[in-house]
Amino acid sequence: MQPAVPVNESERLEALRRLNILDTPSEASFDDLTRIARYIAGTPLALIGLIDTDREWFKSVDGATFGETERGQTLCAHAILTPDRATYVPDARHDPRFADNPNVVDADPATIFYYGAPLVTSDGLALGTLCVVDHQPRTLDDAQRETLDALARQVMRLIELGQREQQLHREEEEREVILAYLEHRNHELEALAGELRVRADTDKLSRLGNRSAFDARLDEDLILTRDHESPLSLVILDLDRFKPCNDQFGHQVGDRVIRTFADILRSVSRPTDFMARYGGDEFAIILPLADRRAAADVARRVLDAVERTDFAPCDTRTSIGVASLEPPRGDDNGEELLRRADQALYAAKAAGRGRIAINGVDDVIEIIEPTESRSA
Ligand code: GH3
Ligand code: MG
Repeated sequence: MQPAVPVNESERLEALRRLNILDTPSEASFDDLTRIARYIAGTPLALIGLIDTDREWFKSVDGATFGETERGQTLCAHAILTPDRATYVPDARHDPRFADNPNVVDADPATIFYYGAPLVTSDGLALGTLCVVDHQPRTLDDAQRETLDALARQVMRLIELGQREQQLHREEEEREVILAYLEHRNHELEALAGELRVRADTDKLSRLGNRSAFDARLDEDLILTRDHESPLSLVILDLDRFKPCNDQFGHQVGDRVIRTFADILRSVSRPTDFMARYGGDEFAIILPLADRRAAADVARRVLDAVERTDFAPCDTRTSIGVASLEPPRGDDNGEELLRRADQALYAAKAAGRGRIAINGVDDVIEIIEPTESRSA
């Protein structure tokens, strides 16, 4: 007799697929259970079989070696029709369901005794059986049957645990992929933030610091040098008669002059110095750890480099003001230092431009003549 198809066949197959057990390699933990089943029943054969669409596939076979079987011929396909109880067949030849079954009639050795405990999901879907088979009639006592039923529940538990383990593994892998992606994004964002910070602090034309970066840096260096009782100097530079150069040769030429001048500042400064384009043709250098003499040396190097540089068609020169705090005291502030450096710059312009003026002790301004600068 051909086995009927369970009423919930599509859900049953769906559950079987979800468990991901079909066609997986054999596993010792399942083989242990078939061995125990065979021992309990005293049969030559014990199997864990799952009923797929049109075959029975075996996760474990103890007592023989064979692969899958056509569904219609299996006793297990009958056993799954009663998920609530085992199928107990002491002699299949006398059972109308199996009397014409080729496994019972034709096979050698034939299936004569069969006990199949269904493997049932928590939703009540029978996926297959844990079964024991003999080639001669046999009976099992209550304790044997109950133990086999208990063992079938353990098989089902093992299948579900395996599936949960696979799922956890997949989730772990997914988490790792997500984590790696987020880490990558984070690095990118950090790099972007760094880039934006540099961009926000940089003057586009000269690629020196801009005014706000200058203000922030001056405040920082004031605190640092005050704490370390080290001098802090400020050099302010303004291009001489830059406006006529712009007016006569155009803005593009003027821009080129600004860029070339910025290159000069970069070339003469020390690693600790901070250079900024303070305004149109006005520049500033903050020199921590430099007293007014060291700052004047840097200013001199700027004048010399300007002298050596061809700014054609403009004949560019610069005036420079220097002021220092040696070291900054409690109430000294950046504005005051800036005012004193500006005062020196004004004096350098007034003295004929192309000069350095140092705002010294008690605001006495010392002018360094350009010839002195060149011979220095
Ligand atoms: P002084 O010797 O007294 O400094 O005279 P000056 O001609 O240099 O006059 P001032 O410093 O007052 O003029 C600055 C000029 O700088 C005005 C403007 O034409 C020019 N300028 C300001 N910003 C830019 C800029 O971004 N590009 C160019 N090409 N020129 C600028
Ligand atoms: Mg100027």
